[in-house]
Amino acid sequence: MIISPRIRGFICTTAHPAGCAMNVHEQVAQIAAEPSFEGPKRVLVVGCSTGYGLASRIVTTFGGGADTLGVSFERPPGEARAASAGWYNNRAFEAEARRVGRKAVTLDGDGFSDQMKEDVVAAIRAEFGKIDMLVYSMASPVRTHPATGEVHRSAIKPLGAPVKAKTLNTDSGEVFETELQPATPEEAAATTVVMGGEDWEMWIDALSRAGVLAPGFRALSYTYIGSELTWPIYWRGTLGKAKEDLDRAGAAIRAKLGEDVARVVALKAVVTQASSAIPVVPLYGTILFKVMKEMGLHEGCIEQIDRLFREVLPAPQLDDAGRLRLDDWELSEPVQAEVTRRWRLTNTDTLGDYADLPDYRREFLRLFGFGLAGVDYGADLDPRVTPEIR
Ligand code: NAD
Repeated sequence: MIISPRIRGFICTTAHPAGCAMNVHEQVAQIAAEPSFEGPKRVLVVGCSTGYGLASRIVTTFGGGADTLGVSFERPPGEARAASAGWYNNRAFEAEARRVGRKAVTLDGDGFSDQMKEDVVAAIRAEFGKIDMLVYSMASPVRTHPATGEVHRSAIKPLGAPVKAKTLNTDSGEVFETELQPATPEEAAATTVVMGGEDWEMWIDALSRAGVLAPGFRALSYTYIGSELTWPIYWRGTLGKAKEDLDRAGAAIRAKLGEDVARVVALKAVVTQASSAIPVVPLYGTILFKVMKEMGLHEGCIEQIDRLFREVLPAPQLDDAGRLRLDDWELSEPVQAEVTRRWRLTNTDTLGDYADLPDYRREFLRLFGFGLAGVDYGADLDPRVTPEIR
């Protein structure tokens, strides 16, 4: 079949196997071209297939020489149906890792479940012995709680009062003011159940009980804080509350296992499947990326995670809440002053002057393997096969 993009709102329902493989290959090549660094050698990445989790797997393997065990929740292909992008990314990553003699085991299923935690423990025992690091990079709109079986759905909403905010329709290019209604207490609580720190703690408990944590074990979990422009919808909304709970979980893990064991890492805004679903964030992103590129400060997932492992983890500096910060360039005064200035001036007519929507759209399509140089998009493909790119 010939696979083309099919976009529904903020999601693309198809993915291109060769394009996804090329996307992974380019990130691998970028890291492999740099000098290696001393890092953890047996790494578990929960949420390994896309975005920051995939970047963590690539950086630890090709920069730090790690063997990795990945967990993700992806859709396999059918005879006449493309898989999800993350499924192709996983196959492409495994092939790349194998080529340099590194182990890469991937388990697909619900990371929130007790079953997946048991399967991971079994895989660690069989393939790795113990692990030196857990990177928790899961982003999901829904969680079935393993203790109660209850299904919780997150709601990305403000808290308390309605919020009026400027936003962007990335399909039409229209900039408009929207009024977002506040979450009910139940919606706020459900968002914390889904995106808060409980599951990260459950992973650590399961691994610790099973005795598979190596001496010196470290656990990381990723968060976003952002600037005043997105606070009404993000940090002061339901997602921010959930991320506050991640900080609580980090402190609880440290209290149990030791001061240096668990760190929440604040990363910058990037285009991923998870971030495109958040109102206001795409408008902020289109302005931010243009400003950071003009200032020579642009970073995507791979550059952020490379800086994390190469520079920040060896000489950690913590903020008041005990987090590591890689959002320092995004939140720097010159960047925020310029983004804020442009934010005020941006409307549908001026969008092209102050923001870069075509670049955002290109980045979005790349997540699904579309628009990569060197890929033949007219080729008739078997969607069950992920080609190896050399
Ligand atoms: P993403 O959508 O690219 O990746 C999410 C990952 O979670 C995928 O591997 C997916 O398969 C996996 N996943 C989802 N549900 C699962 C389940 N039930 N079981 C197992 N795996 C499951 O997301 P991302 O943007 O890379 O986000 C990862 C983390 O980084 C999140 O904590 C997010 O808050 C944080 N972060 C994101 C941004 C951003 O701008 N995107 C910025 C800062 C921090």
